[in-house]
Amino acid sequence: MPYKLKNGIYSVRCRYPRCTFHTQMEVQRNIAGMTQKDVEEEAKKLVRDMAMIKHDAMHGTRHTLRNPEIRKVSGAYELIGASPNSAAAVAEDGGTTYREYQKGEVILKKGENAAAVCEVVSGYAYPVRNKNHRYKAGDCFGAAALVAGQSRTADIAAGTDGTRVAFYNIIELSKQNPKKARYLFNQVMEDTFKVIRDLEVSIDRLEQQVEKEPVGR
Ligand SMILES: [Zn+2]
Repeated sequence: MPYKLKNGIYSVRCRYPRCTFHTQMEVQRNIAGMTQKDVEEEAKKLVRDMAMIKHDAMHGTRHTLRNPEIRKVSGAYELIGASPNSAAAVAEDGGTTYREYQKGEVILKKGENAAAVCEVVSGYAYPVRNKNHRYKAGDCFGAAALVAGQSRTADIAAGTDGTRVAFYNIIELSKQNPKKARYLFNQVMEDTFKVIRDLEVSIDRLEQQVEKEPVGR
């Protein structure tokens, strides 16, 4: 579930002629969905149900709340799994979120919910446990987001001040821009295989070391 509702407050107005019902409702239940639109629809459905009870208690003898006007007053449809980062500059662009990081700041945290595939826009990033593996502008990481229910497998940090990273909801993107989605998919898979090759090299080295160690000491 890539998106969740955060601090959603909605206004509900009855459209029935001369009805004075106009109220604000806060959504306290956890609502999540694959797209921002899904979350919005789900939230509005819940708000309508809550408002109907309130409305009909007052005006129910005359008419019921049907097809009210519902608008979001405040709150956001946020990506699940992106590191909370209030200081960072965040911009929304149709399912894509951009964030900026300072040197050493963690972009992805091991064990977190994986919702988005990341692309370095400027600066660079690296896995905290493998500093030689660099993600430069145009490089992608975050393969866990391609597998449902998979959490992040490594900490990834920014290598320099002002490192800018795009977070893509790959499902949403494949509808809006299939070419870009395919590009990201290939980039992320390529990175995954590179990580596996690096691991194999490390394992070989470890095996050689183990063979050299005298046994039983
Ligand atoms: Zn009414």
